[in-house]
Amino acid sequence: MENRVTEVAVGSTRLHIIQGDITKQGTDAVVNAANSSLMGGGGVDGAIHRAGGPAILEECKEIVSRQGRLPTGKAVITTGGNLRARYVIHTVGPVWRGGGKGEPDLLASAYQESLRLAVENKMHSISFPSISTGIYGYPVERAAEVAVGTAVTFLRQGPAALEEVVFVLFDNKTFAAYSRALQELVEK
Ligand code: ADP
Repeated sequence: MENRVTEVAVGSTRLHIIQGDITKQGTDAVVNAANSSLMGGGGVDGAIHRAGGPAILEECKEIVSRQGRLPTGKAVITTGGNLRARYVIHTVGPVWRGGGKGEPDLLASAYQESLRLAVENKMHSISFPSISTGIYGYPVERAAEVAVGTAVTFLRQGPAALEEVVFVLFDNKTFAAYSRALQELVEK
């Protein structure tokens, strides 16, 4: 039978998964699966810039002129422009190179740094896409485990400031992988 775990509570935070479009979310922030140039691209990145308008790219350019390219595993924050979300948190996940090049730690870092920025900026809610599992080729089952596991560990350790963490998954296969990862966590 297909697992359909879609929600867990971690302290006072509701962590849940939905199938949908990250650009449509009304959380305080949405996370962009960006690349180091912060100049936009395909997938989530293209969709966020298209829907959010030029104000996002303006701020990205300022950030890059100030601090250079964004290293893998790091995160920065900009306006949400025309999006429902007030902020976009841009992070860079690792390109999959077989798993022996630090990919799991870099992916975990992308989630941690994004969550840390959300807490620092006193946000209550944040939506994530499935970072690195599109163009960057990270196997989705493994990425789901890292994504969900990192979020839960962060929420267990950190101050209970976030009320809602959402993973917004685009397709059936990705949704199913995240559902299984949540199921495994609940069974632990
Ligand atoms: P990366 O370059 O980090 O691999 P991608 O943007 O290529 O990032 O893909 C990451 C995941 O986001 C993939 O599962 C892709 O199908 C999904 N995706 C693409 N567009 C959207 C969207 N508008 N909302 C949510 N997820 C999306």
